[in-house]
Amino acid sequence: MMPNEIVNPLLVRKYNQPLPRYTSYPTVPFWNEKLETEKWQSLFVGKYAEQNHVNGISLYIHLPFCESLCTYCGCNKKITTNHSVEEEYLLAIEKEWKLYRQLMKQTPVIRELHLGGGTPTFFSANNLKRLITTILKTSIVHPRHEFGIEGHPNNTTREHLKVLYALGFRRISYGVQDNDPEVQRVINRIQPIENVKRATEEARAIGFKSVNFDLIYGLPLQTLESIERTINETIELKPDRIAFYSYAHVPWTSKAQRLFNENDLPDAESKIQLYLKGKELLTNAGYADIGMDHFALPHDELFLARNEGRLHRNFMGYTTQNAGMLLGLGVSSISDTGNAFAQNEKTLHDYYIKINSGELAIRKGYCLSKEDIDFKKYILDISCKGAMIFNDDDLPLLRTYTFPKLSALASDGLVEWDTKGAKLTEQGHYFIRAVCSAFDLYLQRGVQSEKPIFSKAI
Ligand code: SF4
Repeated sequence: MMPNEIVNPLLVRKYNQPLPRYTSYPTVPFWNEKLETEKWQSLFVGKYAEQNHVNGISLYIHLPFCESLCTYCGCNKKITTNHSVEEEYLLAIEKEWKLYRQLMKQTPVIRELHLGGGTPTFFSANNLKRLITTILKTSIVHPRHEFGIEGHPNNTTREHLKVLYALGFRRISYGVQDNDPEVQRVINRIQPIENVKRATEEARAIGFKSVNFDLIYGLPLQTLESIERTINETIELKPDRIAFYSYAHVPWTSKAQRLFNENDLPDAESKIQLYLKGKELLTNAGYADIGMDHFALPHDELFLARNEGRLHRNFMGYTTQNAGMLLGLGVSSISDTGNAFAQNEKTLHDYYIKINSGELAIRKGYCLSKEDIDFKKYILDISCKGAMIFNDDDLPLLRTYTFPKLSALASDGLVEWDTKGAKLTEQGHYFIRAVCSAFDLYLQRGVQSEKPIFSKAI
């Protein structure tokens, strides 16, 4: 467990720069390549044949509907109260799965399954059961599988939890964000603490092994007092994991963020104080800082995986499973074969047109070069293990782009390094995004992304 040390606020200020969260490398804004469906299919088939029987696969299913719009939201979602949309969407996912099943020469071994959104619990328990049953009836479930879902505390019912538990789900992540009624009003997410408590207790009673809360700092009207109350109420419910995210203000891509008054947002200095207060309360309560916004109690699998060097990172954030590849189903979902990424169409309209005409819904993607694969591994190693060994072949690039950055990071006490490798210091754990960026050749070379969308680290 990491010591409960104080983060140097001067460094927090210095490194509060717009940087990616590194759930992929290269990061999505640099995927400027049109990926032909045939090429993606052949990459998928090749990697699947190699990985499925060895490591199994991860499956992510995006369920995009929400009943009301949270104004801070940057997710791909569709707001509706009309639940008849469930049927059309499920039919499309079933067709997409069938298209991929035709490419799979062996029965898929599902190691990780994650339902994200949107609001997956917008769907009825019966419809979720139908979806998962359809996938699993032609698959093998890996003996060390991990199935998880993102639940909304307002509409996750006991029925949902019972059905999901019976299907093998043991992890649930609740979007809590903030408990303060005024903050909830301005972000249009009215969610009484009683709902969070009920949903948490029901999940535990039914047998879920890991309950995660997502919290956000930097929301409009948040104060040190309000964040302290939210964190203390959270600690009382003892979620096994907490993701304490920085609010990403990107009104140029998330139109809903234009709905609240920018003057209500805490300024940079106050936002840092909110983060430091939250972190202090969480670590004092026994949560370990796993890195990049994640905290976990010492019994939680994420904490154990981190200590045993088994942590992995993908589009779902940190995970304890390292399946050989990730298949994303549904609108806007991203797949990752290790040597290529593909993203599905981002609007329901375009997604339905492609799927209903019998083709995969690929919108864009990226094929990684050897250089990308090597530097992706460095970024994964630093994010998940806190250390890396350099390949001799990469030394010319490292000398040009990375070593000068490492020298600067080392002088701030964030890394220790030589020409053989690098490792994070205790202080460096709190600045992983900055350390990762030293290995991001796209940023270091000043390559222009399609859109400047990275939010500040804090
Ligand atoms: S934050 Fe979640 S529930 Fe709210 S609109 Fe976005 S996806 Fe939907």
